[in-house]
Amino acid sequence: MVIERTLVLIKHDGVVRGLVGKILDRFENIGLKICAMKMVWADEKLAENHYQLDEEWAKNVYEKTKKTRESAGEPFPFTDPIAYGKMIQSWNINFLREGPVIAMVIEGPHSVEIARKMVGSTEPRQATPGTIRGDFAMIESYALANDKERVLRNLVHASDSVDNAKREISLWFNEAEIHNYKKELDKHF
Ligand code: ADP
Repeated sequence: MVIERTLVLIKHDGVVRGLVGKILDRFENIGLKICAMKMVWADEKLAENHYQLDEEWAKNVYEKTKKTRESAGEPFPFTDPIAYGKMIQSWNINFLREGPVIAMVIEGPHSVEIARKMVGSTEPRQATPGTIRGDFAMIESYALANDKERVLRNLVHASDSVDNAKREISLWFNEAEIHNYKKELDKHF
């Protein structure tokens, strides 16, 4: 299916830094359609469901961080990917509950892939200029976050697959909150 929906969150760091408008602009500028949007202060259940621990995610987070820190010549003293994943998951849950976020459903051709591309690398330090993280958060790094025992503050969440987008959208929105309407660009799809 070419037309996809994805879940985008402007995390609390984006809200408190006053970047909501600038971040929204990015998605609107390239023609993606906002079909649902609201401000939400997540409760424990929503935060835990959003950041579910699955083994593959834990291993992936562990490997990504290990590789980055070791290639920068920095120590990475963790040996257990699942325990590391659990630690990051609990930091994520706490951070998601720290304050309100902007939640939105974004629709358009290849929207899952395109939103991820626009958001940029997980570690803002590595994010390419032109991406949201690269332009607005580049001084943030694994080293900083892990030294302070906190989550990487990287402004935005975007679903990483069509299946995860479906699951995440259903956590944050009910059907009545997601709107169908036409935009000028739709005639090309
Ligand atoms: P992405 O948000 O780019 O899809 P992941 O799914 O790998 O990244 O991780 C989810 C979130 O967890 C990241 O956006 C980031 O805020 C946080 N995170 C991931 N790895 C780490 C880490 N090693 N230290 C601190 N926070 C992390």
